[in-house]
Order: sequence, then structure tokens, then C-alpha cells
Amino acid sequence: MGVMNAPAPDLDAAPRTDWTRAEIAALFALPFPDLVFRAQSVHRRHFDPTQVQISTLLSIKTGGCPEDCAYCPQAAQYDTGVRAGKLMDVDAVLADAKRAREAGATRFCMGAAWRSPKDKDLDAVCEMVKGVKALGLESCVTLGMLTGAQAGRLKDAGLDYYNHNLDTSPDYYPHIISTRTYQDRLDTLAHVRDAGIHVCCGGIVGMGESAEDHVGMIHALATLPAHPESVPINALVQVEGTPAAQGQALDGIEFVRTIAVARIAMPRSMVRLSAGRETMSAETQALCFLAGANSIFYGEKLLTTPNPAVDSDRALFARLGMRPMDAPTGH
Ligand code: SF4
Repeated sequence: MGVMNAPAPDLDAAPRTDWTRAEIAALFALPFPDLVFRAQSVHRRHFDPTQVQISTLLSIKTGGCPEDCAYCPQAAQYDTGVRAGKLMDVDAVLADAKRAREAGATRFCMGAAWRSPKDKDLDAVCEMVKGVKALGLESCVTLGMLTGAQAGRLKDAGLDYYNHNLDTSPDYYPHIISTRTYQDRLDTLAHVRDAGIHVCCGGIVGMGESAEDHVGMIHALATLPAHPESVPINALVQVEGTPAAQGQALDGIEFVRTIAVARIAMPRSMVRLSAGRETMSAETQALCFLAGANSIFYGEKLLTTPNPAVDSDRALFARLGMRPMDAPTGH
């Protein structure tokens, strides 16, 4: 029986980074009610289960990316209708950040479709980070691969979080990206961590990978030298023109299981229900919250794919009796 294969967790134990693949697999194999109950028990130990942290994501430089991530409409080599733009002006970004704050966001994430930032572009991004901080918001950026020196500059500008995903399991990774290696990603994550910036790192479900790859992905995340403070679990948004759009539609139950295992394996991390909410039913989202998701993206600017409108999120929170997490700076 699955319950016996996955011993009950010690809810007060320190987070572990020595999970074995067999342990993660045993969690995935638990009967669904046992898995969700266990995830919710871990969740309640560390978080208020009625609160959800809200982030807003703005694409500050869209499209034209030289990388070949199979799921991404911003890769220049896929014909997806996304037009390549220039880096936005600092003032325009800060005006959006202000609107996000007024809509209830506590963290403002800025994404640029680069392989890695040029130093000149990093000057502008550092100004954006300073401006976002001055508004009382937490700041997060995702800019591609970073050197140690670049991570240091972002830290000096006051950056709170850097997003860089592992995307999938090490085994499935070569099916998804050829232009950078898994090790490249681990190196960037190490530079970010060493600079003292919080790490936001997760992956994507629904790209044609097997259940075994979900085990591999959570295992890779939970055995990083330290757990990412934020773990976005994305449901693939199938965008016509991208190779990953050919696969089967997402299995919602398997998605909830992935959230639950992420919660158990990384008990103190914020587990983020990320891309893909647009096509997810209220019921599936509710199950994700029950399984320990406690962060979402808010608003309609989730890079280039649609995201449920602010009003429908408010309505969902009201139906579930849940509420946004308090702002970190108390404004
Ligand atoms: S995911 Fe990022 S690195 Fe990959 S193609 Fe898209 S923008 Fe480029």
C-alpha cells in the first residue's frame, strides 16, 4: 500500500535536501486522498492555508529570443505570432508596477526574453528594480543565464528574487531545449544563491513528459543545495507554432499531485500555481490550494499568454473564503 511506502513525515523536521528518487516516487504513488491530506498537513505547519501570495508578471522585453525552449512562444525560431519588442522604458515599467500594487500584488516580476542580459541592459533593469522596491513591492526578474558578477549587480540594486526554472526532469530536458544545458541552469542558480538573492525555480507539467519525469523534476528541485524560496509549477499553455503544443492536454489530477509532492518535499517554500490557470477550472485551482499551492500570478500580463482577469481571481478567492497574503512592507 502506498501509505506504507511513504512514511509519515515529521512535520517539525528541518527541510531536507537529501530526498531520494524512490521517496519522491512513493509520494506520487500515494492514494490521492492520502497525498493531499499529507500535503495540507505540511502546509498548515508552515503557512496560513487561507492566504495566497500574489505576484504580477510583466514582460519588459518580449520575443525574439535566440533560445529554443520547445514550449515558448518567444523563441525567435517558432512562428507563433509574438512580435519581438525592445526593452521597455524604466518609467513605463514603474507605471505598470504601481497599477499592480493597486490591484493587490505584493511582488512584481519582470521578464525579458534574453539568452543572458548584456551589461548595458542590466543597467536599465537595475533601475527598474530600485523603482519597484521604492514602491514597497518585492522585486523579481527573469533574464536568462547570469554570471556571478551580474548576480552581484542585481543584488546591489536590491533585487529580492531571481526566477530561473529547471523546466523538467534532467532525463526529459534534452527533448525541450538544445541551446543550454541543465548544468548551465544549475550554474546560474548557484550564482543567484551565492549573491544572496532568493531563488524562484520550478518547472512545467504537460509537455509530453512521463509521470517518471515529474518525479525527476521534483527530485531535482528538492535536492538543490537549498530549496528555492519560490517554486512555480506551470501547466503548459499550448501555443500554436511551438513544438510542445503537439502533446496531450494536461492531466489535472497529475498536476495536483505534482503540486502536493512539491509542497511535501519543500515544506517552507512558496509553491506557486503559475502559467496555465487560464484554462484551469475553479475546482482544479481549489484542489491545488488544498494540495499546498500558496502563490499565484495575478492580472493579465503573464508574459505573452493570457491569465485569468483580476476580477475572476477575486471572485474565486471569495468563493473559497481565501485572501491575498499581507504585503511584506505593510503598505
Ligand atoms: S523560455 Fe526564456 S530562454 Fe527559453 S525561448 Fe523563451 S524567453 Fe527564451
